[in-house]
Amino acid sequence: MPHTEKLDCLIIGQGLAGSALAVQMLARRWRILVINRSDATSPSQVAAGLFNPVTGKMFAKTWMADELFPFLHQYYRNVEQLTGARFYYPMSIYVPFAEAREQNEWMGRSIDGPVKHYVKRIFTTPQYPGVLNDPLGGYLLDQCGYVDTKEYTAAVRSWLENQGCYVTASVERGDILVGRAGVRYGRYEADVAIFCEGVGVFGNPWFDWVPIKPLKGEMLAVRGKFLEDVIVNRGVYMVPGPSDTWYVGATYEREFESPAPTNEGRKALEEKLQALTPLPYEVVDHRAGVRPSTPDRRPLIGAHPEHSNLLIFNGMGTKGISLAPFFSAEIVAWLRKEKQLPAAVDISRYKSLYWNSR
Ligand SMILES: Cc1cc2nc3c(=O)[nH]c(=O)nc-3n(C[C@H](O)[C@H](O)[C@H](O)COP(=O)(O)OP(=O)(O)OC[C@H]3O[C@@H](n4cnc5c(N)ncnc54)[C@H](O)[C@@H]3O)c2cc1C
Repeated sequence: MPHTEKLDCLIIGQGLAGSALAVQMLARRWRILVINRSDATSPSQVAAGLFNPVTGKMFAKTWMADELFPFLHQYYRNVEQLTGARFYYPMSIYVPFAEAREQNEWMGRSIDGPVKHYVKRIFTTPQYPGVLNDPLGGYLLDQCGYVDTKEYTAAVRSWLENQGCYVTASVERGDILVGRAGVRYGRYEADVAIFCEGVGVFGNPWFDWVPIKPLKGEMLAVRGKFLEDVIVNRGVYMVPGPSDTWYVGATYEREFESPAPTNEGRKALEEKLQALTPLPYEVVDHRAGVRPSTPDRRPLIGAHPEHSNLLIFNGMGTKGISLAPFFSAEIVAWLRKEKQLPAAVDISRYKSLYWNSR
């Protein structure tokens, strides 16, 4: 019989949520094991990795931006140092104006109001003639950029592997046994198990009742000579990658038949791209993934209503890059009994769904 190994925490899933949680726990010398099945179509492998404090149709300040953004800058820099990899690219976002009235609106917003700290410059004349369709100018946003999510998750995985804290496996029904004092997985005994499975949660016997709403997204990789040091965002975003490759995204589909890329998705993205730039390009890749979103667009964090040693960290939706670092630190502080979970993310707001489902 192999001897039992005692752990503080089992983490199931190593997308953006599981990666951030593992990093924060290991940095505090917690004994952990991350169990992850590789899935090239998981959103953490597909995402463009953008972080942007001013988002949505109304270009409003994103929820908790003043807390999330300073935290994420520090977090990704630290993880680059820990792993020796490069994946964090702070960069301004340029948003061309669509109508003349937006010029005045943004002049005002840059002087006063909730987004003023994030507006770097306003331009009322075209900045990139021949490259972008920006006849009215646009505005530059600060504290933005992107994380190369494939590189980041791969770097975290190697770092965990080097410390003997990672296994590639799919956790199936019956693999985790729950007792009063903790949980067991094979020869491992841990105080808690935290499920960071994204939409994989639908196969989880303990958390299949949580209101995760699948939100499919498609992305293109295109090759062309655009701008190198700025992200562009209007209708679609264009994120500069290596060797003249640009990531163009994304679509947002609540109703879909398959998680695979579609011709309709590609067409929608290309139409928006062509509205943004007159330059030629070649599509070199087309990917899709399914985001784990929630009805109120807030993360889902907390313990199972009946098993306090089974926890969930999910609901990253469209903003895993900025939400995962901050809220994984909140989880660690909560487990250390240093603070309560913020009510807005606490899973207990949905616990009636659990009791109604029994
Ligand atoms: C096209 C697209 C573009 C996007 N762009 C952005 C963006 O620019 N910025 C941004 O912030 N967000 C973006 N997102 C959203 C972002 O990708 C998600 O918020 C984030 O990836 C969710 O991470 P997660 O760790 O919760 O889930 P996932 O990425 O789904 O990770 C879950 C992991 O757990 C594993 N797993 C699941 N179940 C099990 C099990 N039972 N046993 C073992 N392993 C398991 C899976 O294989 C996977 O590795 C985008 C998403 C898409 C689809």
